[in-house]
Amino acid sequence: MTLSSFSSHELDFIDDDEFHEECGVVGIWTTQDAASLTALGLHALQHRGQEASGIVTYDGNQFHTHRGLGLVGEVFDDPRVIASLPGGMGIGHNRYATTGETQLRNVQPLYGDFEFGGFAVAHNGNLTNAQLLKQSLVRRGCLFQSSTDSEVFIHLIAISLYSNVIDRFIDAIKQVQGAYSLVALSKDMLIAARDPLGVRPLILGKLPYSQDENSWVVASETCALSSMGADFVRDIEPGEVIIIDHDGVRSIHPFADNTSSRFCIFEYVYFARPDSVIENKSVYMARKKIGAELAKESHIEADVVVPVPDSGVPAAIGYAEASNIPFELGIIRSHYIGRTFIEPTDQIRNLGVKLKHATNRAVINGKRVILIDDSIVRGTTSKKIVEMVRAAGATEVHLRIASPPTQHSCFYGIDTPAEEKLLAHTHSIDEMCKLIGADSLGFVSADGLYRALQEDKRNNQNPQYCDACFTGDYPIPLTDHDMQLVKSK
Ligand code: SF4
Repeated sequence: MTLSSFSSHELDFIDDDEFHEECGVVGIWTTQDAASLTALGLHALQHRGQEASGIVTYDGNQFHTHRGLGLVGEVFDDPRVIASLPGGMGIGHNRYATTGETQLRNVQPLYGDFEFGGFAVAHNGNLTNAQLLKQSLVRRGCLFQSSTDSEVFIHLIAISLYSNVIDRFIDAIKQVQGAYSLVALSKDMLIAARDPLGVRPLILGKLPYSQDENSWVVASETCALSSMGADFVRDIEPGEVIIIDHDGVRSIHPFADNTSSRFCIFEYVYFARPDSVIENKSVYMARKKIGAELAKESHIEADVVVPVPDSGVPAAIGYAEASNIPFELGIIRSHYIGRTFIEPTDQIRNLGVKLKHATNRAVINGKRVILIDDSIVRGTTSKKIVEMVRAAGATEVHLRIASPPTQHSCFYGIDTPAEEKLLAHTHSIDEMCKLIGADSLGFVSADGLYRALQEDKRNNQNPQYCDACFTGDYPIPLTDHDMQLVKSK
């Protein structure tokens, strides 16, 4: 299907024309009320997954679980739900379904009763050999309850021949390939782990107000710490396993030398919350610097710089500062549109009602506009927005993108379409520009992106980040994909 063959209905309501965040995880080790703290942390991580949420706690005697479909505020809206999750240790998860359909049985944390007692696990990322492992586990008699790749961890731990929980956990993570930031809870300990390349984020924090000095939090991003008043301690390292128990915090590195950071560069571009700090870098400042690099690389004379909200805003501020062109909020985004809004009648559709974005004519009319967005996926949204800006009176519309062209799919936990559905996979930049209907189109280069992240440039022999969706250089084997065990979207 070409862009021009999309109907206005499709252009207004196709909402899969953007990357979707993966998942967010939280773990709490304290003396009381882990459920409330976990819910607060999950609330701050809502941007990482909006389809389902769950918490498992342990009260020293037994485990308690509540999981549901919807936003954190919906799943945990009733104080009686939090009251039904007593205990000072807990883990929680926000889900965006990257594997497995959205059904309650797929909502994490996953829980199992083992010979050593209860064990719960929550996973952010995507395993690239989960289907292969699942085939072998099913042959060995394992009964899978869900269709999520994360359940593989539960079965690998269950069948491990090691005697203690930590050795079983390590035995399991050594068999999986892919991206994972994990939190897990047994009756004796909270475990947190990152894959050997540290593709997804995970941080350690401390709860300062607790009466117990030994009170800790692990979370996907530092923004979760602010919501619970916790202090940042440090990033959990690639390949590191952290164990928190009554004796405090211990760190082990089961992958020895086989780790080197290939953190997801797109977390800086789009996924992480702008107030988070990753690897000592403010995500907001990184986005501004990407905008400044973009201005240097693809400067054009114009009257106003306008972000596509919300994710294009910091890059647009950086672009405007670097180019000395005024920044204006020329597009206003409605935050109150659900994914399944009522289908409009033809009459409403023909009125050109745009539900998600509206133009602010006062700052666009008669102007040469530079539009800043974070990425182009299928291109349908970009085309719609360029049309809207022109309709609001812009004399020229120049689209600038704060990432290199997205030519490849992500297999590490970000929901992207199959390659052939990515506009940049099938079209040159000139062709994309024509299809989108902009006067010009420019992307920041890979080196520009790396410069914004305080690197000289991309080290092509040993890249500092995962950037596979731009370069096709996948740092972790795509076993299931190569064996055709996973279907393309
Ligand atoms: S492929 Fe892209 S989105 Fe996926 S982990 Fe790598 S950089 Fe991030």
